[in-house]
Amino acid sequence: MKDSIFAEGAGYVRGRFVPIAEATLPVTDWGFTRSDVVYDVVHVFKGGFFRLVNHLDRFERSMAQRRIRPPEDRAAIEAILHRCVALTGLSDAYVAMVASRGRPRVAGSRRPADCENHLIAYALPWIDVVPKEVQARGAHVWVASTPRVPDASVDPTVKNYQWNDLTSGLLEAHDANFDTAVLCDTQGFLTEGPGFNVFVVKDGRVTTSDRGSLHGITRRSVLELCAELGIEAAVEPIPRSALDHADEVFLATTAGGVMPASRIGGRILGNDRPGPISMRLKDAYWRKHEEGWHRTPVRPLEAEA
Ligand code: PLP
Repeated sequence: MKDSIFAEGAGYVRGRFVPIAEATLPVTDWGFTRSDVVYDVVHVFKGGFFRLVNHLDRFERSMAQRRIRPPEDRAAIEAILHRCVALTGLSDAYVAMVASRGRPRVAGSRRPADCENHLIAYALPWIDVVPKEVQARGAHVWVASTPRVPDASVDPTVKNYQWNDLTSGLLEAHDANFDTAVLCDTQGFLTEGPGFNVFVVKDGRVTTSDRGSLHGITRRSVLELCAELGIEAAVEPIPRSALDHADEVFLATTAGGVMPASRIGGRILGNDRPGPISMRLKDAYWRKHEEGWHRTPVRPLEAEA
């Protein structure tokens, strides 16, 4: 498959499967001009989707919340995701499903209801939000001064393209020579970062924020693993000051899994390396992948005909 036209990725746009470079949008699409989009990302590990059902559930909920209704139903979306991956021949992949408001059917209309909603999907070679070598030494995480946009303005549980605050956090982090950032809300509570949920470990207890955050599927996996491993865990308010006392911090996302930090703001955590609880959870997360946890094998192309 290396030389195939889909080797760099396969996309689905306007009802057609195309090489990723041809998966393009009109500049007048509201998905582009207004970030009027919901999306989801699932990964494929060694030929199998991980928690595909949960990602499709969340995507359907996001679409319903924003009243974006592409013509494809759930079964069709699922088949499209399988086909995108199968076309690439990738065994490890980053797979996105995107529902855009689209363009108004009535020229010049400003009414969302007049728009022709549509589905985009694509599969790309595996992506790590934090590169693997950085995960190995532990990410250096900046605590951004930019606050996360209020939940009442943009619902963080609806996976969306409003990333200006998260991107500002990244700009701050890179200016300060850090790998990535976490953001707090306007009240000073920890939320999440650009593409991941955040976990804090203190005295053997694992917590993640109850606000300003996506209900991450990896977060859910981490909470399940904590229960399985007998590690106390909670979803609760986390004041910014908790970062001054944390024993460990780790990040969690589909695009990278459990990603330990070794520095948070000005602090070095432990011995400047990933902490033991973070590593236990990271190891369990990937071991269970190997064992087929929540796995849906990617359907080969010939099965789709
Ligand atoms: N928070 C944000 C803002 C994200 O974009 C993501 C994933 O892309 C996450 C959290 C983690 O969610 P999940 O574990 O479902 O990938």
